[in-house]
Amino acid sequence: MTNNQSTELLFELSHAGRRCQRLPASDVPAALDLLPADAVADAPPPLPEVGEIDLIRHFVNLSKRNMSIDTNFYPLGSCTMKYNPKRHERLASLPGMANLHPLTPDAACQGMLHVLWEMQNILTEIAGLDAVSLQPAAGAQGELTALLVAAAHFGDQGQERTRVLIPDSAHGTNPASAAIAGFDTVSIKSNERGLVDVADLKAKLDDRTAVFMITNPNTLGLFDGQIAEITGLLHDRGALVYLDGANMNAIVGMTRPGDFGIDMMHYNVHKTFTGPHGAGGPGSGPIAVRSFLAGYLPAPMVVKHGDRYKLDHDRPKSIGRVRSFFGNVGILLRGWCYIRTLGPAGLREMTENAVLNANYLLSRVKAAYEVPHGDRCMHEFVASARNLKRQRGTSAMDVAKRLLDFGYHAPTVYFPLVVPEAIMIEPTETESKATLDAFADTLLKIREEDAAFLHDAPYTTPISRPDEIKAAKEPILRWKP
Ligand SMILES: *Cc1c(COP(=O)(O)O)cnc(C)c1O
Repeated sequence: MTNNQSTELLFELSHAGRRCQRLPASDVPAALDLLPADAVADAPPPLPEVGEIDLIRHFVNLSKRNMSIDTNFYPLGSCTMKYNPKRHERLASLPGMANLHPLTPDAACQGMLHVLWEMQNILTEIAGLDAVSLQPAAGAQGELTALLVAAAHFGDQGQERTRVLIPDSAHGTNPASAAIAGFDTVSIKSNERGLVDVADLKAKLDDRTAVFMITNPNTLGLFDGQIAEITGLLHDRGALVYLDGANMNAIVGMTRPGDFGIDMMHYNVHKTFTGPHGAGGPGSGPIAVRSFLAGYLPAPMVVKHGDRYKLDHDRPKSIGRVRSFFGNVGILLRGWCYIRTLGPAGLREMTENAVLNANYLLSRVKAAYEVPHGDRCMHEFVASARNLKRQRGTSAMDVAKRLLDFGYHAPTVYFPLVVPEAIMIEPTETESKATLDAFADTLLKIREEDAAFLHDAPYTTPISRPDEIKAAKEPILRWKP
């Protein structure tokens, strides 16, 4: 039986001899005779044998189990799960775009090069910086690319700088990127307001410091107003400041990272500028830098001569490629469509509404859940189930799991690490007040539910609580009959 709740594998539905097609008998000699005997398997691979209708039902029913922005509210903090307008998909699926071969000569893909050239310029302007590389495949790779650019810059200057400083509220990709780029990482404490502890920064800042990586607004959804002081401190020591731009949805059109002293940053086009993501979908993590770093950016870049565009590979100081071809062009195209559709005033409105929605939800939720850092937030906020756990035995995980029964994607939990029992909520600007109210009502209701009952939630999903570590570390990817 194949229904929506079935957990049978396609292999388990198999019956010998069933098939989807009926082909006429071959009238050419068996090709196997042409192959050397040791290249021929003893038996055909054990593929499932099913009829077409069973095949279709199996996959369509599996697809209906997907949780997506198109089906459910998805307040996954830090990930900016906003609605992806279908207009972008129409543009990206035009045959001239979708079928464009990455090795097409420049002269035959002037339209795509025009889009990418504009995207370089638009992202430069939004950053308030001087040059952009569109190549990195996602935010994390943008971080790595920028750190390699910084290393090349200091190498050129004959300066040996070995350290990257990172606040303890940072996303895990920051220290990972620094380590892969060959730096030692140094953790900087957050203060009681959830912002950078400037005294700790001063104590750890010295001539070994290459880069300070900051997320602003940070992962608590707070804009660090000390940013001008912080960037000043770093620059006085000859170090660079990197912005993790994952939270650009809170500041696009309101302020520019270049204006608050940032030297390098990445965008997450799939977050801020609506590339469909989640479930490991493709990302795009362009980086923007100041002019003195531009020569080190990955080659090629799109340049314009007269009214013609071309890919410029002649960049002698470039760190080289970080991604095949020209990055995830399909996501850049969607981001370009989004930005050109909204325009500067629309982007600013996007930001204002993202911050308004988050603050509205914060004001409703904080009646029942502790929000340790601040009465106000930017585009997201972090509640804590610490008191709830102490008083009633209900953890952040219990709340997240129970939300699934009500048709919500769970918020991000247990991140950032500086908040115990963290529940990180980012509603985005694309949700209505009615959706936010319904979600807040549900959170308040869950707070009153029996802790023992909550430990076994969810009750309405095909499986309830898998062993998450085992599922991630020991996935079964091979069918063993
Ligand atoms: C998403 C995110 C990243 C990593 O970006 P990817 O595009 O997923 O590689 C880095 N920092 C923060 C704060 C993020 O939210």
